[in-house]
Amino acid sequence: MQLFEQALGVLQSGVMILDGNYRIHFINQWLNKAFDSTPDLQGEQLFNSYPELEGKRIHQAIEQAIKVGLPSLLSPGLNRSPLPLYRGEGANRERFPQSIRVQPMQVDSQRFCVVEVQDVSSMIRREALLNQQAEKLNQMALTDELTGINNRRHFNMLLEKELRRSNLQGTPLSLVLFDIDFFKQYNDHFGHPAGDKCLIAIADYLKHQLSSYGYQVARYGGEEFCIILPEQDVEVARHLAERCREEVEQLQIQHPSSQVAQVVTASFGIASKSGKQSETQTSLILRADNALYRAKLAGRNRVIASERLDEA
Ligand code: GH3
Ligand code: MG
Ligand code: MG
Repeated sequence: MQLFEQALGVLQSGVMILDGNYRIHFINQWLNKAFDSTPDLQGEQLFNSYPELEGKRIHQAIEQAIKVGLPSLLSPGLNRSPLPLYRGEGANRERFPQSIRVQPMQVDSQRFCVVEVQDVSSMIRREALLNQQAEKLNQMALTDELTGINNRRHFNMLLEKELRRSNLQGTPLSLVLFDIDFFKQYNDHFGHPAGDKCLIAIADYLKHQLSSYGYQVARYGGEEFCIILPEQDVEVARHLAERCREEVEQLQIQHPSSQVAQVVTASFGIASKSGKQSETQTSLILRADNALYRAKLAGRNRVIASERLDEA
């Protein structure tokens, strides 16, 4: 028996045995030390020593084990720290999260209950770290590495959601696609790293100017960007695209080898749907892309809107 008590004494988890009057018949060292304030709990009545536990989940679990013979598991998800158990010293002393198992035990005609306690701080820390990493991976999967704005995958998801909403609620939806003019020449002239900086500057402008209105911006491909305008018709989209076109010019990024201006410019294509028509993502993107192509053909640095679907 002594050997068992010694073994329980070196355990790095808690064990205590309570009788039908909630008196602590046995408590191992680890658990006694973790209990706040009381030097020796052996022989004490648990709820006399800790009246604040009365009526709490741990009380119910012990009562059910002793009176009905029902076991319970108190996991930290629902009951983070059922017992007043502490670890650390001085300023580092803190109540730790616990996983508690309460088991009934019958000895002759007497019912006891065995309470097993584990400190799950490190498990919770590990879980939080994994969640953080998963969140970061998720974010990375949806973000364009160079510019930090939404990538095409995220754009597709956002557009699908907005299309569903537009079809369901009968609200209009507009899509603006734009492409930097003569960007190959820009790279050829200044080098690829300078080209990257130019893309970052345009993405920063989009992010700061448009996201605050609830418009989603994304990098669609190499030097192509897109803007989703929920609930906006073609007139608003045209207005906004024209402002973007002017502001790209206003960024005054020198582009001596452009054939349209001295600075970096872009061409814009718009596709809008009314709330009445239903349209697929592919069709909306294709219409915006065709309009963009026409803006290029018409001389670049301009905005062209696709005809409405029912007019096309
Ligand atoms: P257009 O006015 O007809 O759009 O002509 P363009 O030269 O802009 O179009 P083109 O499709 O011929 O060339 C696109 C260029 O964009 C070529 C490619 O090297 C460059 N590009 C694509 N992605 C990146 C990138 O991530 N960084 C840099 N620096 N350049 C890129
Ligand atoms: Mg392009
Ligand atoms: Mg281009």
